[in-house]
Amino acid sequence: MNFTEQTKQIIENAQSKLAHAFEYVDDIATYNQMKVLDAFRENNVGLRHFSQTNGYGYDDIGRDTLCRLFAQIFGGESAIVSPLIVSGTHALSLALYGVLRPNDEMISITGSPYDTLKEVILGDGNGSLRDFGVKYQQVELKNGKIDVENTLKKINENTKLIFIGRSRGYEWRNALTVDDIKVVIKEIRACKADICIMVDNCYGEFIEKIEPTQVGADLIVGSLIKNPGGGIAPTGGYICGKSKFIDMVAGRLTAPSIGLEVGSYAYGYKDFYQGIFIAPHTVAQAIKGSMLIGQVFHDLGFETMPLPGGKCGDIIRSIKFNTQAQLIDFCRAIQEASPIDSNVVPYPWDMPGYEHQVIMAAGTFVAGASIELSADSPIKEPYIAYVQGGLTYEHVKIACMYCVEKLLFNK
Ligand SMILES: *Cc1c(COP(=O)(O)O)cnc(C)c1O
Repeated sequence: MNFTEQTKQIIENAQSKLAHAFEYVDDIATYNQMKVLDAFRENNVGLRHFSQTNGYGYDDIGRDTLCRLFAQIFGGESAIVSPLIVSGTHALSLALYGVLRPNDEMISITGSPYDTLKEVILGDGNGSLRDFGVKYQQVELKNGKIDVENTLKKINENTKLIFIGRSRGYEWRNALTVDDIKVVIKEIRACKADICIMVDNCYGEFIEKIEPTQVGADLIVGSLIKNPGGGIAPTGGYICGKSKFIDMVAGRLTAPSIGLEVGSYAYGYKDFYQGIFIAPHTVAQAIKGSMLIGQVFHDLGFETMPLPGGKCGDIIRSIKFNTQAQLIDFCRAIQEASPIDSNVVPYPWDMPGYEHQVIMAAGTFVAGASIELSADSPIKEPYIAYVQGGLTYEHVKIACMYCVEKLLFNK
């Protein structure tokens, strides 16, 4: 690809404004890398933990050690980390079904949960939580922050679980910071101590030096083909937090009689270990890339979230386009700039679990992995693209040039 001088200049100008912000990202990455390295050392991770296992997987040390490793890194008492969890939605669903019982109530205090969870919670006749008698309330965000006053008003004797979505999902808002979450948890605990506070941690891992579990969350839940898989884990999800709740979820993952005592993986665990090891660096690459995209599109006059220089609570950058055509062009440029399936042209389509048609660009090594550079968007007004990931900053930078060329010069 030969980029025009004008495009190159736009990108270089944007980059030059970000030196200071990049230093901040590097500092967090170094801190988190140290945390991860310490956990590897303290758990004596060795080649023996990578072994392929089969059958029941009793005494599978690769599996058990991986769980302990995550628990330590994320500051939880214990963790479930498993290739048998097929996605983030599956991990979140397991956690909800594991903890909630008939007549219990959950309250989502960050507005509507992620699209794919709606049917899990409120579906009618599909085996949803509602079908099992679990009640649901929702508190909308107020100016992009949790409405504590309304939350406290809604908590009652049946409330067993508070659900917090850290990332923005498909909303025009910023992700919450760990500090935002900390303040809210304190207030909730003061109101009702005995309540499970669960955080959808997707896209939030390693953005900051601590995770929500370290400010009082009982459970954090995420996908291994996002941040904590480092772009290397081939599949899987995790749930980390208080042992009391992890045990309940383990009974749901397998069966109440066997919990985490079983589970084998014939492919071996090396990619999960290597993934979490490299994740702090990969996340830093993705954030720097995200900052660059944000700056470039801000400079071109588009509305972006967060604003350049604003604090990142997740790896996503939202860009508001003026027309559906621009949005689709943007996604196509991201696809064209991908190492895999660069010749594929993305179109909007009906995806399982999503309300509107969605367009997705993901030319990724791990199918659909959004720690790799990807963009997606529900097709509805306003036309917002959600861009995230990037295994290397350089790739995101080059992809930025593809996008600018397409939008400005229709190349
Ligand atoms: C990705 C994501 C999920 C889970 O989605 P999957 O595609 O099933 O992994 C849930 N919540 C948020 C905020 C997410 O970003």
